[in-house]
Parts: sequence; C-alpha cells; structure tokens
Amino acid sequence: MQCHLGIDDTDSQAGGCTTYIASLIIEKLGKLGAQFTDYPNLIRLNPNIPYKTRGNAAIALRFKVPAPEKAFAAAKWILRNSLLPTDPLNQKPEPGLVLFIGDRIPSMLRIFSQEALQTVLSISRARDLIKQLHLRSFSTNGGRGLIGAVAAIGNPLNEDHTFELICYRHPKNWGFLRKIGKASVFEMDSVFRSSTFNNSDPKSSRILIAPRGPDPVLLGIRGETPSSLMNAIRMLDLDEQVQGYVIYRSNQGTSEHLQTLKGLQPHEAGSVRGTVMDHPRIERGGHVFFELSTKLGSLKCAAYEPSDSLRQKVLLLEKGDRVQVGGGIRPASSTDALVLNLEFLLVEECIPVYRTFNPLCLACGGSMTSMGYRQGLRCRKCRARVPPIPKLRVTQPRNIAPGFYLPPPRSQRHLTKPIKRFGKERRRPYRRLLEAWYGNVSSL
Ligand SMILES: [Zn+2]
Repeated sequence: MQCHLGIDDTDSQAGGCTTYIASLIIEKLGKLGAQFTDYPNLIRLNPNIPYKTRGNAAIALRFKVPAPEKAFAAAKWILRNSLLPTDPLNQKPEPGLVLFIGDRIPSMLRIFSQEALQTVLSISRARDLIKQLHLRSFSTNGGRGLIGAVAAIGNPLNEDHTFELICYRHPKNWGFLRKIGKASVFEMDSVFRSSTFNNSDPKSSRILIAPRGPDPVLLGIRGETPSSLMNAIRMLDLDEQVQGYVIYRSNQGTSEHLQTLKGLQPHEAGSVRGTVMDHPRIERGGHVFFELSTKLGSLKCAAYEPSDSLRQKVLLLEKGDRVQVGGGIRPASSTDALVLNLEFLLVEECIPVYRTFNPLCLACGGSMTSMGYRQGLRCRKCRARVPPIPKLRVTQPRNIAPGFYLPPPRSQRHLTKPIKRFGKERRRPYRRLLEAWYGNVSSL
C-alpha cells in the first residue's frame, strides 16, 4: 500500500522551513527502507490567506515502506525536535503532519485540496476529514498546519507541474550572508533559459533563486525537468557548505490557483472576465485602480506599485476594453469595497479610440472654432467663416495590444505561471525518479 505523508510547518517565511523539515524526513525514511514513488510534492496553497506571508506551502511525500507506523513516528519526532532558525518576526509555528495510506486519493481529499488553493479553509474542516477517513495525524499549537498537510496529500499534481531543486544550508551558516557567485547565476540563467524560470529579475538584476533572511534554504532553482535542474546547479559558484538538496515536483509556476471565480469572497484567489468601466487612475502610493464589470458584479481591480510593468500596462486600458484578470481578493475596508489585487492581466480586445477635431481653415490653415450649435465655424486667425461641417475623426493609436501581461518576476507569486512557460504545460505527471533526486552535495 502506498503511504502519503502531508507536512506543513506553517512557518512565516517563504516555505523554507517546511521543505527543510521535509528534507530531514526524506533522509530518515530512506534509512527506514522507504521506496519513494514520486518526487516530494511541494504544494503551494492560496497565497492570499491572511495569516500567511506569500509563501503558503506544504509538502506531500509518497512512498511504500514496510512499517508505516514507524515511518509516521519518525516523521513526528523530526517535526518536534528539529532545530530551526529563529526569526523574530516569525509567529509561533503550528506544524501539522497527516498520513493517508491507500493507492487512490479519495475525492474528498482532492476537493479539499482544490479549495485550499483558492479559498480560506478552517482547521475544523481538516479535522473532520482526518476523522472521517481515519487518517493518522499530529499537530501542535492549534494545528493550523493540518490544513496544509491534508491539502498537500490531496493534490497529486496530475496535470501541469514544475520542479524545484532546493539546497539547504549547514545550520552553522543560518542567518549569515549567502555566498553565491552572482555572475554564475546570470550565466546559468542564460544557458538554461528555456528549461528554468525566475532565476533573476532582469530590470533590477536581483537574484531570485536565493531567499533572504534566516531561512535554512540556500537556494532553489525552478524548472521544467529534474535533469535540467541538476545540470543548472552545477554551473553555480557556491562558497559555502551545503547540507543537502532535494528535487521537488510542484504546482509552482502553473497558476493552478487562478481558476474562474464563482463569487467575490475576501481572501480568495481566481480569475474573472469583464469589461473595463472607466479609465484607470493612479491613487495615493502610486497604485492604479479601475472598475471592471463582470458577471459576478462590479469589481474594483488594483495594480499595486511593486507590480511595475503590469501597472504601466493597466494605465493604458480604456473604457470598453475586454479583459480577463486574475489575483487575490482583498477584503473591503471601512472606506473601500472589495479589491482584486492583479496577478495577471489578459487583454482580449482593445476597443478603438477616436479623437475628433474641427477641420483647419481653408484660407490660412489656422484652427477653426465653433460659433455655437449649427452656427458653423470661424477661423481664430483670419476670422473667415464656413457653414456647419462635420468634425473630422481619427483613430488614436493604442499602446496596448491583446495579450498576456504579468508583473516582473520579483513581484510574481510562487504559483504564477511565467510567460515563458506558456505552451510547456504538462498533461500528465512525470514521476520517474532521477537516481540522485536527493542527497548531500557530494552527489551533485
Ligand atoms: Zn483662416
């Protein structure tokens, strides 16, 4: 029988601690004779959950093992006793661990997982499922981590998915500057341009493979296949001891969370089609807002200042344009209605925009002005008069074309599908394990 172990450490950082705990559990399970049947699944959940930062992540390990009870006990021990970097801003971790044994993932788990991508779920719903399906579970500090642990089990990544190779730091280096040769990252990025994504941010020339802060993650390279990631990492200049690495299979870079919205609920993620109702305007802080008419009702949309290039595109929209928008819904405040925080803009149709003006004076070429309703025109310069004639109309060039627009890589969500992944979507799971899909750095 197949074991599915869900892990969520609910750390406030970008998910680094959860994957670090997972890497320790993987090593232990390997020693207990586990046969992994898939890469560990790194499942990103709804990024708009209020008590999470942008990293909302959980892990599912899928394997066969002679003694599942022993494996669960070992995982629990690691979750309870592992030393983690301390972050003064970190809220109390609320880890959760859940074990499901079975060859088929029940539809209840799949539905729960789908909802965890787009909506806000309660701990009690996770507990109900655990009870109903007789799952083994462990949690502390309120058990918020049970939500992610159950949701990770329920997403077998059967459709589009990507991979991430994550390297972990030796604990003695936690909190210290990461020693990664910047030039080698840009070189790797250019060599593996078509098989990796979001290594760096072109405009700010910031490196995106390394988190900042006390996270145990040294770096993570995201891409299309496990072997391209192994080749990519060998190009990097790393001047610090790496404790180990793991290749994950993930819904990162798939926009799996942006399915069509069924309603407009605070903190939910999704997408909706509509017609632009007014000219987008810049408000305080440099944020850009516009009103969209959708079948769910009128919706205020926002492109915040960090969305940079996306914000510039939004400013070019005109009343009447047909678009699709995706993102997270910010709850209404005392002064504001619900706002959809834009993660992508798909322009479907740009309406033509016209400029009308009076013809020029035939006598002197000066500009003509109307003398009143049906009174004809008079030249401002030579005062010549002409009878009423229709205004001239010219089509204004539109500086935006139908197409797909995203914020720059540095402002994208982990889940956002980068433009270069369009056309590369996988239709079935790729589970063939590389021989060295996890290990210490000597096997890299
Ligand atoms: Zn004139």
